[in-house]
Amino acid sequence: MSSKVRVRFAPSPTGPLHIGGVRTALYNYLFAKKHGGDFVLRIEDTDQNRYVEGAEDYIIESLNWCGIPYDEGPGKEKGYGPYRQSERKDKYREYAEKLIASGNAYYAFDTADELDAHRKEHEENGKTFIYNWHNREKLKNSLSLSQEEVQKNIDDEEPYVIRFKSPQDETLHLKDVIRGEMEIDTNILDDKVLFKSDGMPTYHLANIVDDHLMEISHVIRGEEWLPSLALHYMLYRAFGWDAPEFAHLPLIMKPQGKGKLSKRDGDKMGFPVFPLEWKDPKSGDISAGYREDGYFPEAVVNMLAFLGWNPGTEEEFFSLEELTKNFELERVHKGGAKFDPEKTKWF
Ligand code: GLU
Repeated sequence: MSSKVRVRFAPSPTGPLHIGGVRTALYNYLFAKKHGGDFVLRIEDTDQNRYVEGAEDYIIESLNWCGIPYDEGPGKEKGYGPYRQSERKDKYREYAEKLIASGNAYYAFDTADELDAHRKEHEENGKTFIYNWHNREKLKNSLSLSQEEVQKNIDDEEPYVIRFKSPQDETLHLKDVIRGEMEIDTNILDDKVLFKSDGMPTYHLANIVDDHLMEISHVIRGEEWLPSLALHYMLYRAFGWDAPEFAHLPLIMKPQGKGKLSKRDGDKMGFPVFPLEWKDPKSGDISAGYREDGYFPEAVVNMLAFLGWNPGTEEEFFSLEELTKNFELERVHKGGAKFDPEKTKWF
């Protein structure tokens, strides 16, 4: 891994960028700039079912309006691209096959109906079905079938997925800059799908391969990805790569402090939860944005910076330069941060 700080914001273009996403981008940007590093924008658009027209442009325009420019990304090619995952499909296939060759992944031919039947049968016996060492040898995959059977299935174009072979009886030691150290028993993990039957990688495979190829030194992302950390650690190890540092940011909570902030909370409070106005391409519904509602981007950025972080002083307003100077990942809070849009009113 390069010793240079390189971070990335990796949104999926599935709709308008929520302010939680803007905050993730902001913390990445501040961390990169503080350490003289690079801030990369990578568009994770491999899930064709969730792709929303116009979302990528919206993300880029939002970052521009907030004054959080990226150094590399779509339209700013710097040798690590393309920065859109749909344009990197061949790489993911190649790396999935490397994992099969090294014994860390396998083909699985079980149909959705068959998997449902296994789940039901387990439930009836009061058990939870986990596709891993408990039963993988009894299911339809390249660990249980003969080489000829596997080849025949592939030649007959039977749909298949590629699954990660998670280790048995091991305690993994995970580290997060904000949360500290964690332990995970691998026996509770399932063999996650890395490559789908539609020929597309899942988020996990594409994300790890790209973070490695793009020489990302620190992964700063939302807490909702913490449950994936064990798999990501195992993937780095299986490839023989050094893992980057990880920092999972606390969720942005409703002002009452219970549950994750939603678009509906914004409507109820009369505050946008999106940087720019968004017109849903299907329903035509319009959601309010800070830009159109006349807020200053500096006010929005300042409010977001203080959602889950503080500089350790009494000061409550910082310019982007001051934020950059003062920002430290170690000062990011562990607990959820309460949304406080009143702070944007100081201007
Ligand atoms: N594409 C993921 C998302 O939209 C990125 C998660 C990550 O940063 O690893 O949240």
